[in-house]
Amino acid sequence: MTALARGWCPSLHEPMRSGDGWLSRIKPYAACLGAEQARIIAREAARHGNGAIDLTQRGNLQPRGFSGASAVAFANAMVAAGLAHPDPAVERNRNLLAPPLLGHDPDIAPGTAELVEALPAAMAEWPALPGKFGLLVDGGGRLPLAGEGADIMLRHTGAWVELRLGGGDAMAHCAPAEAVAAATALARHFTTLAPARRMRQAVAAQGAQAILAACGLEAAPDLTPRPAPPIAVGLLPGQVLGVAAPFGQLRAEQLAALAGLAEQQGDGTLRLTPWRTLLLPGVEDAAPAAALGLILAPEDPRLRIASCTGAPGCASAFIDTRAAAARVAAAGLPGLLHLSGCAKGCAHPGPAPATLVGGPDGYAIIRDGRAGDRPAAAGLTLEQALAVLQRP
Ligand code: SF4
Repeated sequence: MTALARGWCPSLHEPMRSGDGWLSRIKPYAACLGAEQARIIAREAARHGNGAIDLTQRGNLQPRGFSGASAVAFANAMVAAGLAHPDPAVERNRNLLAPPLLGHDPDIAPGTAELVEALPAAMAEWPALPGKFGLLVDGGGRLPLAGEGADIMLRHTGAWVELRLGGGDAMAHCAPAEAVAAATALARHFTTLAPARRMRQAVAAQGAQAILAACGLEAAPDLTPRPAPPIAVGLLPGQVLGVAAPFGQLRAEQLAALAGLAEQQGDGTLRLTPWRTLLLPGVEDAAPAAALGLILAPEDPRLRIASCTGAPGCASAFIDTRAAAARVAAAGLPGLLHLSGCAKGCAHPGPAPATLVGGPDGYAIIRDGRAGDRPAAAGLTLEQALAVLQRP
């Protein structure tokens, strides 16, 4: 068991202590859960934990509220359900963001599924990597991952695989059959680049072209713009229902009900996305999910608020972010608003047009910056902070 520490990333076998107990993490293989697996997660999360399940920006599920002993029982149940590797070291390294509609979206490049399937076995043999170090495999299609970041990014075009590095401005490409070996070479090389904990730090020190070249990859400048995230809520093209949970947290009973919906009306799967939504391929009726209290309208103001767990769930929090988020959503402010229980900024590591941060003396406001940046105003009540943000 591991106490809360900066930079720590929980995994199933290495849960993290938080304000509401230990929290765990499930990393669905290929961003996909079968309905029965989702039901098992819901049942065991309610049985062993407090039944709250976060949807993370890495397409993972983060059940909360375990005791030390119940976290172990939960982990055993997840391994038995085929949702995790039994070896803690393998499970810790297995950070792979995959296209959420693999097998359903015909526009995803051919060969992408095979690459996603082959990588976990290779990653199991990689040396230990920092807990947050991860890969991304994109194959285009209706919900591309091209706007997402990772330490190593692979984009399958069908003819070849493009390779990019987190924070980098260069790109290499290889034959699809060589992609796993190329990613392996990059991950192994990264472990020689201490003290970097993330690839972007190594890139800042060495340059992306040099790192790619050190792995035998010929790099060229990468001028590809990063697209905005796609809309992944509501009735989506290709017969897919996208659902979001208010402020990114599901209840176990909602997950179990969605599993039933996927089975009765869809293809029997639930897909995880980095946009903190669940996708149900084949489901075209939004009413049952709406009746569960889930979000199905892309314009719902709650989707414009990036809120972390906050108090009481997080021991570092100065404010109850979810209660505050409901009030902020009702205020109808335009644009993205990041609401953070402390300066760490877990819910939105990048800059946001407006950020409200909890501190020992109340709320601070940061404009066009990150939660840890210098505030424009501090020591405010929530109502005072909203009044400032509402000024033209
Ligand atoms: S940002 Fe939020 S979740 Fe992260 S440590 Fe601070 S209070 Fe906790």
